This record gives sequence, structure tokens and C-alpha cells, in this order.
Amino acid sequence: MAAPRKRVPHLIVGGGIGGIATALALANAGLDSHVIERAEEFGEIGAGIQLAPNALRVLDGLGVLDAVLADAVRPPKAVMMDAVGGEPITTLDFGPEFRETFGYPYVVTHRSDLLDALLTGCRNHDRVTLETSRHVTSVRGDGETAVATCADGTTYETGALIGADGIWSVVRGHTVGDGEPDYVGHVAYRGTIDIEAVSAHAGTGNVTWWVGPGIHLIQYPLRGGALFNQVAVFEAERNGDPDGWGPPEELERCFGDKTAHVRDGLRLIGRDRRWILRDRPPVERWTRGRATLLGDAAHPMVQYLAQGACMALEDAAVLAECLAGHPADVDAAFAAYERERLPRTATAQRWARRMGEIVHADGITALLRDALLARREDTDYGYVTWLYGYRREHPDNATSWMDAGGPVHA
Ligand SMILES: Cc1cc2nc3c(=O)[nH]c(=O)nc-3n(C[C@H](O)[C@H](O)[C@H](O)COP(=O)(O)OP(=O)(O)OC[C@H]3O[C@@H](n4cnc5c(N)ncnc54)[C@H](O)[C@@H]3O)c2cc1C
Repeated sequence: MAAPRKRVPHLIVGGGIGGIATALALANAGLDSHVIERAEEFGEIGAGIQLAPNALRVLDGLGVLDAVLADAVRPPKAVMMDAVGGEPITTLDFGPEFRETFGYPYVVTHRSDLLDALLTGCRNHDRVTLETSRHVTSVRGDGETAVATCADGTTYETGALIGADGIWSVVRGHTVGDGEPDYVGHVAYRGTIDIEAVSAHAGTGNVTWWVGPGIHLIQYPLRGGALFNQVAVFEAERNGDPDGWGPPEELERCFGDKTAHVRDGLRLIGRDRRWILRDRPPVERWTRGRATLLGDAAHPMVQYLAQGACMALEDAAVLAECLAGHPADVDAAFAAYERERLPRTATAQRWARRMGEIVHADGITALLRDALLARREDTDYGYVTWLYGYRREHPDNATSWMDAGGPVHA
């Protein structure tokens, strides 16, 4: 028997934060979509995620903000600490002035709580259909139809295919065809544990960045302070096969001489899994025919701005508005989407890399960083306004990526 062939109006490949948010945004705009996800169930890894006001603005527009805020923690501030000397370097206050400036708070939450809120929104909508165990292995089509074929032979035809299939995007292989993402040379270990295990670290509820030469450690509480999330990152020795970079012994070595607080936190992070970080430089288009990209498939970036998922949410809102605004012209909708999203996400990709250099600085560069940051007030939001204050009605907020000083990947 021939494998099934289905026709759907909008096909979303990938049911992560970006794909599910897109389905909900399309439904709210009156458009039907079908999501296919390769995993047996929709789900996120058991870790935390930071959501800045630009993401909360989108979640509000999607109608799921209250559900997200119900489980989220609102940290009073983000504090950058010297991982060697143990001294504070700078603070970003998330209090009333922050909320007044950006219209929304800064929150941290569990990834699965965010995905669940978006999924519930989709399940309450009859314009969204969701399917799991559908692993797309190829995408083709240059005309008015894009065709996605799954490992089990199931084939989908659509007039608008949205690749939200993450950094290893199969859809990108068809639309951009630029090979594998780049190795950054950094390795992350992360984990979420019961707060009881870390009572010595708990108490402030802040997002804390411990920074030092070639390393950093992020800590923040989750789920009303019941859980504690940590991400430890270091610049790995680049010997041999990149997929073997950054073994646990190197993690110990990189953090072993840091302040006791950092060493204590590190002891509580599992060593069984690590993330060998990859990203891509910005490109000038994501679309080919009736297929385009969104989220990490489009603009994978290192997590140092904590903006990858925030950008995916922004993409979702803009793409839905473009498709709804050009009901009979998907080509025009995809072109408008790219025009708006390419510059902003390219700037974020570049700044994410730069942020890694800033937090990992050593010697005189670190001294200059600390001196510069010591001069700013806790409520000086100058460095983050372009990110958190982004509003669709003011697309000029985004720095032109053509003027952004060339690729940092060079
Ligand atoms: C250590 C770390 C910390 C981070 N912290 C933050 C943070 O604090 N804030 C923030 O905004 N971002 C953060 N990010 C970035 C964020 O996790 C990503 O940008 C975000 O998850 C991207 O969402 P996505 O939906 O585009 O892709 P993904 O989350 O990768 O989802 C892709 C989905 O597509 C599915 N899929 C893949 N291939 C196929 C296929 N061929 N067929 C069908 N389905 C497929 C996958 O199973 C998955 O469900 C962090 C990243 C890392 C590594």
C-alpha cells in the first residue's frame, strides 16, 4: 500500500517552542496549520529558560501570558559576579523601572511549562492539528507547492511550509543548503535540581552570571523557587574530534580554581550530558519557493543573550501577521517576513557571539569591562533596549545588520 499523501494549508515542521508558537499565532490570525514533530511526544528538555520582555509581549499577544506567568519566577535582578574574586561587577535591576520601560517583567521558567502553555493554546483551537512521530527526511519543490516526506514515507504537500525544526534543520538543507552549523568551541553542562540541595546558594532569587576567563556559570531559581537551574560554559581545548570536546575532566579543570560559591554550584551539575555549542553566521535569505525557516532553523545563536527562544517567538508573531496580511500571496508574505526578521535576528546572532567574548574576557580586557560596567546604574537599560524594547510597530529599533560591523564569525 502506498504511503499516505496529505495536503495541508500551512505545514509547520518541528513542534518546539518556535513551531508551536507559530501554529498558535496562525490560528489566532484565522489561519489553519498542521504541525509535525519527529518525537513520539511534544516535549522540552528539563531545564530553565529566561524570557525577556520582548518574548512576554508576544506571549501576551498569543493569549498565553497568564499561563506562562503562573509558573514563572520573576527575579528581582540579574547580577554579574567575578567568578575568581567573588565580587559583583554589575547589576541589571528588573524592578518597577524596568517594567515601566519595557512594559513587561523579566521572568525565568521551566521550558516544559512554556511549551505546555503554548500547546494548551493550540489544543483549544480547532485551527491547529498536531501530529507526532513524523520525522521529515526531505523537502522539495520550487513552485507553488512544497513537499515534505517523512521517514515512514508519509508525504505532505502545502502552499506554505515553515521549517521550525531547530539547529539541525532538514528544511534549511532545502532552502539555504549551507551545510552543518559551526562549532563555537564552547561546551555547556547544565541541570535543574531541587532547591533543597542548594540552600547555600538560594535566597536571592536573582539571575546570577559568574564570569571569568574562558568560563561562565548561570544560576537562577525555577517554579516558585522550588528548583534551581544552572548552566556552566567553558572554552574547550580544541583537540581531535569536535564532538569529543569538553569532557568532564576539563570542566573540573576550568572551574576548579574559581570562588567556593562557583565550585559548590558546579558539584551539583550532572556530568552525563554536555552541549557542544554550535551556531551559524547570518544569511541573506531563508526562503525557497514555498518553504521558509523560523527559530533556530533560521538563525541559531549561542545562548549568551538568552534570546534564541525569544527570537523564535517574535518570528512566530511576525510570520503569522505577514501571512494573514497577504492572504492570497504567500510569496509576498514570506518576503515581508524576511525583510522584517533577517536584520534583527542577524544582529542578535552577532551580539550573542560578542557577549561570549565579553563574559569570558581575561587580563586587561576583563579589567576594562569591569571598569566600564561599574560606571553604569542598575537601572541603566541602554545596553538592552534594542533587544527588550523591540516593538513591531517600530521596526527601526533593530540595528541594520548590514551596518553591524561585519560578521563576528570571520
Ligand atoms: C544551554 C542553553 C540555554 C539557553 N537558554 C535560553 C534562554 O534562557 N532564553 C532563550 O530565549 N533561549 C535560550 N536558549 C536557546 C533556545 O533553547 C532555542 O533558541 C529554542 O529552543 C529554539 O526553538 P526552536 O523551536 O526554533 O527549535 P527547537 O527547540 O530545536 O525545536 C525544534 C523541534 O523540531 C523537531 N524536529 C527537528 N528535526 C525534525 C524533523 N526533521 N522532522 C520533524 N521534527 C523535527 C525537534 O524534535 C524539536 O521538537 C538556550 C539554548 C541553550 C543551548
